Amino acid sequence: MKRVVIIGSGIGGLTAGNLLAKKGHDVTIFESHSKPGGYTAGFRRNGFYFESGTLGLEASASVFKAMKDIGVSDQIEFVRQKSRWIAEDFDGVPTSYGEFKEMLYSAYPREKQRLDRFFTELDKMIAAMGDMDKPMPYLYSGISFIVSVLSYLPGGIKSAGIMKKYGDMTASDFAGIFFEKDSKLYRMFAGMGYYADMAAYLIAGGLLGIFYDYWTVKNGMQSWADVLADNFQKLGGKLLLASRVDSITTKNSAAVGVVSKGTRYDTDYVIAACDYKQVMLKLLDDQNLLPEKTRKKIGDAPVSEGVFTVYLGLDLSNEELQRQMVVPHVFCLDLNSSGVIDDSGDEQFFEKTSINLYSPSLVNPGLAPQGKSSLMLQTSVPHRWMQNWGSGDRKTYRRLKQKAMETMIEKATKVIPGLKDVIAYKDAATPLTYERFTHNTDGATSSFSWNPKKKFYENAMGVKVETPVKNLLIGSCWAMQIGGIPGAIAGAYQSVNKIN
Ligand SMILES: Cc1cc2nc3c(=O)[nH]c(=O)nc-3n(C[C@H](O)[C@H](O)[C@H](O)COP(=O)(O)OP(=O)(O)OC[C@H]3O[C@@H](n4cnc5c(N)ncnc54)[C@H](O)[C@@H]3O)c2cc1C
Repeated sequence: MKRVVIIGSGIGGLTAGNLLAKKGHDVTIFESHSKPGGYTAGFRRNGFYFESGTLGLEASASVFKAMKDIGVSDQIEFVRQKSRWIAEDFDGVPTSYGEFKEMLYSAYPREKQRLDRFFTELDKMIAAMGDMDKPMPYLYSGISFIVSVLSYLPGGIKSAGIMKKYGDMTASDFAGIFFEKDSKLYRMFAGMGYYADMAAYLIAGGLLGIFYDYWTVKNGMQSWADVLADNFQKLGGKLLLASRVDSITTKNSAAVGVVSKGTRYDTDYVIAACDYKQVMLKLLDDQNLLPEKTRKKIGDAPVSEGVFTVYLGLDLSNEELQRQMVVPHVFCLDLNSSGVIDDSGDEQFFEKTSINLYSPSLVNPGLAPQGKSSLMLQTSVPHRWMQNWGSGDRKTYRRLKQKAMETMIEKATKVIPGLKDVIAYKDAATPLTYERFTHNTDGATSSFSWNPKKKFYENAMGVKVETPVKNLLIGSCWAMQIGGIPGAIAGAYQSVNKIN
């Protein structure tokens, strides 16, 4: 039996904690927030439940395997999601990639040839994505890992050509080959996803995910985290909430403990299931353990964009909201303007951006008071927008946040006319809010940058849990370039595999 300290109770920390406690290890999770969950969490205000940030998940085969391995599958109800897509020229709920293509062909008949050429190449990338029904190899160890990797080999060989052609391209490079710069279709595909200039092949991954593998948790993300936290404690694990780890103690280049609230806890292993930069640049008690070059590389590594979220409690029945939204999740695209996600100085950014609408109470009416409904509005935001939301000046921060919130609400009235008149509760979270609650650098939503030209890890699809410090492992989404829930689960499994 080993003593293991886990920093963070996001999906990565909770997965690692459960797997290790199940194996009989002595595990303590330290969580700085008063509730478990990290980015997979939620909260109630005035009787309305809201997701903190993360609305759904893909890569369900990996998630379901993890929940089965832990033994909590029957306690969490995952439900499939459909999405409505609205822009000036189309409005539909495509339920397959084929229907999505048809929607665009009928919206832009004059662009048929360009669309043909674009989809011919995108189809090849989609075919190269391989079997999405299988869990990632990183959730296995030993022979099973090798068998799982080998099963990807034929697909990998087949896809080598297309990946060589487009593997290092960004979505805007790729869209620019087929569509005129600043045309609506260019904007649609260049700006697809949460991130600035994400890798082109993630357009393929994103569309596959949205149409065939997009899920949410019926009772809300917080219920998922709570189930995992309860199970962990039933297995004998200790969960210390409101307990921030202030430093990681090292001896002879190895992690040997952590310090929280002035108390030192000795341990055999530390799994950092949280932000990578914080761990390496702030928590290590001996910065000389990392060569200057490594510290600089970590410090300079760009992270994924943060989001701005508006939370609305509505004096509107779910039936009425459903009549307007049709499904709980709506992409409301603004393809006329050119909101540039990497222009941090553009004060008009929110006027130009596309938004997502999501209603937790349309997924589960129990998530809002009787006769009412809940709505969230989201967009990704340029890094450190407007001198990081006002350079620390509270008044400027409040003004920017208020204006962004009102602009997002105005945009949502395209889908829900009269929205402003039925708002019973409203608030918003900026990337700084997310950073405050989760300690992810600049409120990064999903690990490092998704831009293939700004890679931190050589292999963007690899999982790297080892650090230059012995017995210090990365068990969060930060073990993978593009992180996400699968990245966090993969980081957790790979960390657990290192502890015998
Ligand atoms: C708006 C939004 C949408 C998203 N959509 C998707 C999606 O569709 N699909 C998908 O796969 N992913 C999505 N993601 C990303 C995904 O939610 C995250 O990558 C994943 O949940 C991260 O889990 P984690 O365990 O690695 O870390 P986190 O959830 O960040 O958890 C880290 C935890 O560590 C705690 N902590 C940090 N430092 C300390 C410390 N010093 N001491 C104690 N505790 C500490 C934090 O409080 C936090 O609870 C989305 C994220 C956001 C914000």
